[in-house]
Amino acid sequence: MAEPHHVHDHDSGEGLLSVEEARERILSKIQLLQPLELPLTEAYGCVLAQEVRVDRDLPEFASSAMDGFAVRSSDVAAAGPSSPVELKIAGRALIGQRPEGTVGGGEAIRIATGAPIPAGADAVVPIENCETEGERVRVFAAVPEGKHVRPSGEDVRAGETLVAAGRRLQAPELGLLATAGISHPLVYPRPRVVVLSTGDELVSPTQTPGFGQIRDSNAYTLFAALREAGAVPILAGIVRDDADALRETILSHLAQADVFVSSGGVSVGERDVVKAAFDRRSELGFFKVAMQPGMPQGFGDIEGKPYFGLPGNPVSVFVSFEVFIRPALMKMMGRRNLFRPEVPARLEQEVSGPRGKTQYARVRVRRVPDGWVATPTGGRGSNLIGTVARANGLAMIPPGTETAPAGSQVRVMLFRSTED
Ligand code: AMP
Ligand code: MG
Repeated sequence: MAEPHHVHDHDSGEGLLSVEEARERILSKIQLLQPLELPLTEAYGCVLAQEVRVDRDLPEFASSAMDGFAVRSSDVAAAGPSSPVELKIAGRALIGQRPEGTVGGGEAIRIATGAPIPAGADAVVPIENCETEGERVRVFAAVPEGKHVRPSGEDVRAGETLVAAGRRLQAPELGLLATAGISHPLVYPRPRVVVLSTGDELVSPTQTPGFGQIRDSNAYTLFAALREAGAVPILAGIVRDDADALRETILSHLAQADVFVSSGGVSVGERDVVKAAFDRRSELGFFKVAMQPGMPQGFGDIEGKPYFGLPGNPVSVFVSFEVFIRPALMKMMGRRNLFRPEVPARLEQEVSGPRGKTQYARVRVRRVPDGWVATPTGGRGSNLIGTVARANGLAMIPPGTETAPAGSQVRVMLFRSTED
C-alpha cells in the first residue's frame, strides 16, 4: 500500500535553524589560525598578531630637508638680502655617509637633502639663499634653530608602539614596518581553502557540455569570493557523485588545506554525495537553515579542518559564502569586523520571499540624497547567477515578511563597492 503523501510546505520556516543560530553554531567552532612570521610582501593584508614596538628612534638620525648649507643658526641671525653673512665652507655632508667634519663658529658644511646633519650645525640654509665663491659661502637669509632639519625620533620614539596588535597590514603599515626593519612580522596567515565541485553533470568551463551537462561555475564563484576575502583558494576540481571518490579527494588535500568548501550534494536527493561520504561518521552535521536561497547546509570538520558543504545551486553558493564562510574566514584571519557593511534602503519594487525564511534578494543599491534605494535585479530562483552579477547587495527580507512592498525599508548587505 502506498504511503500517504507527505506534504511539505517549502515556505514555512518551521523546525529550521535561523540564520543567526546557524552562523553562531559555525563561528563558535572556528578558531584563529596559528600566527606565522611572514615576509612583508606575504604579510600584506594580514592582521598583526602581536604588537610591534621600535627599539630605536625613527628616523634614526637628524637629516637635512633641503639642499644647502648646514650652519649654526646664531651665525646667520643677522643675514638678510642686503646684508649677507659670509661663512667658511668646512666640508660636505653627502647622503648615506657620515659627514666629514663638524660645523664650528663661522663655518658651514655643504649638505644634500636626506644627508645627516653634521655635528655643530642646528639649521640648514637652502641653496637658493646662498652664493658660493671658492671656499666661502655668502648667506642671504637668517634661519631659526631647527629650520630644514628633520630631527631624529620625530616620527616614532624608541619604545613606542609602531603598529598595534589587531591592525591589518596595508600600505602605510608595510612601509612603517620596513622602515623599522621588521621584515617578518607575526601575522595571522591567509587560510588555504580547498574548493571541490561535486556532481556527475559537471564539466569544466573549457568543455562544451553534452546534453544535460552543465559547466562548473561554482568553483570560479568561490575562487573569486575567497580571493576577495583574503583567503588562498585551491581549486581541487570536479568530483563525481561517488562518496569514496569524494573522501579520497578530500584526504589527498588535507596537508595543504586549512578549510574545505564543496558545492552540491547536501540535500535530500538520492545522490547526495557529501552526505553519503560524511554523515555516518558524523564528521559533518547537516542542517536546514531558514533562508532562501541556501537552505541545506553541511558543516563540520575533517581532521580538525572546517568543512563547509554548500548546496549546489550557484546563487545558494554565493549567498552561503557571504552569510557563513566569509565571516568564518574573517575570524580565522583575526579580523575584528567579521561582517559586511549593511545599509538601510528603500525598495524600488516589491520583493516577495518564503514566509518563514530570510530571503536574500539580489539588489542593486544606489545612494540618493535622503539615503539608499534598492532595485531587485531579477527573480528569486537560486539558479539565476545573472541576478547576482547585476547586484551589489543582498536585501534581507526577514522571516515573517512574505512581501516587502515597494517603498518599504529593508536592510541590505553590501558585497561590493557601489562604484564597481
Ligand atoms: P545539488 O545540490 O548537487 O543537488 O545541485 C543543485 C543544483 O546546482 C543542480 O541543478 C546542479 O546541477 C547545480 N550545480 C551543482 N554543482 C554546480 C556547479 N559546480 N556549478 C554550477 N551548478 C552546479
Ligand atoms: Mg549534485
